[in-house]
Amino acid sequence: MIKDINILNSSKEDVTDKESLKQLEFIEKAKGYVEELSKELGRKPSACVVTFGCQMNARDSEKLLAILKLVGYEETESENADFVIYNTCTVRDNADQRVFGRLGACSNHKKKNPHMKIAICGCMMQEQSAVEKIQKSYRFVDLIFGTHNIYKFAELLCTCLESDRMIIDIWKETDKIVEDLPVFRKYPFKSGVNIMFGCNNFCTYCIVPYVRGRERSRAPKDIIRECEKLAADGVKEVMLLGQNVNSYGNDFEEGDPSRITFPQLLEEVCKVEGLERVRFMTPHPKDFSDELLDVIAANPKIARHIHLPLQSGSTEILRRMNRKYTKDAYLSLVDKIREKLPEVAITTDIIVGFPGETPADVDETIDVVKKASFDNAFTFIYSKRTGTPAAGFSDQVPEKEVKENFDRLLKVVQETARIQSEKLTGKCEKVLVESVNDQDNSLVTGRLSNNTLVHFPGGEELIGEIVDVKLSECHGFYFTGERI
Ligand code: SAM
Ligand code: SF4
Repeated sequence: MIKDINILNSSKEDVTDKESLKQLEFIEKAKGYVEELSKELGRKPSACVVTFGCQMNARDSEKLLAILKLVGYEETESENADFVIYNTCTVRDNADQRVFGRLGACSNHKKKNPHMKIAICGCMMQEQSAVEKIQKSYRFVDLIFGTHNIYKFAELLCTCLESDRMIIDIWKETDKIVEDLPVFRKYPFKSGVNIMFGCNNFCTYCIVPYVRGRERSRAPKDIIRECEKLAADGVKEVMLLGQNVNSYGNDFEEGDPSRITFPQLLEEVCKVEGLERVRFMTPHPKDFSDELLDVIAANPKIARHIHLPLQSGSTEILRRMNRKYTKDAYLSLVDKIREKLPEVAITTDIIVGFPGETPADVDETIDVVKKASFDNAFTFIYSKRTGTPAAGFSDQVPEKEVKENFDRLLKVVQETARIQSEKLTGKCEKVLVESVNDQDNSLVTGRLSNNTLVHFPGGEELIGEIVDVKLSECHGFYFTGERI
């Protein structure tokens, strides 16, 4: 049986944060509005949360969904719902375009269902041009808010349900972290845990620092309390989330007794009883410490997977990207990781087509891919983001050349990943079972500690269990196997 998932922090007894208590009152108020709507419709109203982008957004969406469920909406995957909210991403332009496409389709649903409410939030809404476009061309949208006031969703929902006008509430920045907001989990056995918000690194291509603000770390006690609650609720795996987890705690005052480093935090999280796997995302290579490697080596609970974004293998491009490491420094770090933690899988992010990038620069990137033997890599075509320094660089690379370089890189990435994966063939590994296989329901799908996917015979009752599996056959990025 799949265990029912509780919504954490949905009652006043669980909550200590003043702002969060205020939001619980708005949840009570919104319940009344949704009850009225339910009577009018003669059925329970439905709500759909559509998420674009990274794990941070996925975690935010779990908070939005918790509130929608608490006030009485029924979750649906269909955008033909009574309340639809788009949680947007703006890291690359194609995410922006997809949102506008989806909004257009949603307007047709609203014509047939006039009481439908459409909301849009997240990173894209921190860009004035996007909000202006919605105000001008998508007048049917009911609620717009940004990343800094997402904690006020219950309050904004009330205002939206009370009004027929478009409600817009965007904050430029915040130094606030609101604890104990209700949160619903997509998976009963695993959960993301934010350890910090924002970013101070200002890589020249990246919009994140502008739309998510400066780094704010959560207090260690709040993170541990959340992990303990999750473990008590049946969670076995947590992923600690931050744009650069290695700078966790740097924003605490000097002399603050609660100031600890990321490796120290990891150690504390590993002590939480019931948690069996601890992952983290993302460590910036420029400040990956020996202390972190030692902590990983000493704690078998910490997943054998390090996602270490490279972005480019050319030292000159890295300088122009403001990444603050060189090709050689990156490769030395990889060597150190492989020496200390030979069983660790290293994955990465790479951007192709950054302004000024030549085929010779891409050769340098390919050289790093081969030397680092990445277990996998996410390859992105550079997307020009208005407001970032790189958008003003004069030497943008022609599309055709970018495409050729991208294809050349992708071939090497796939070959390297296949060689790395194959090394595990025949081994027995612990697998956390995540779901029944989509294509074949006699199989279940799970992940190894190093994040590799495995499909093997089994039933629904295994979901959330950690079992031993023999990795019989490698199929490139995934294995098929059998339970032992
Ligand atoms: N903080 C993480 C780090 O430093 O690697 C990554 C966060 S970012 C949301 C995820 C990935 O998106 C980055 O690693 C980068 O490869 C990619 N990315 C960011 N801005 C981009 C842009 N303008 N064009 C293409 N890819 C981009
Ligand atoms: Fe963007 Fe760089 Fe910050 Fe990552 S570290 S979020 S790539 S600015």
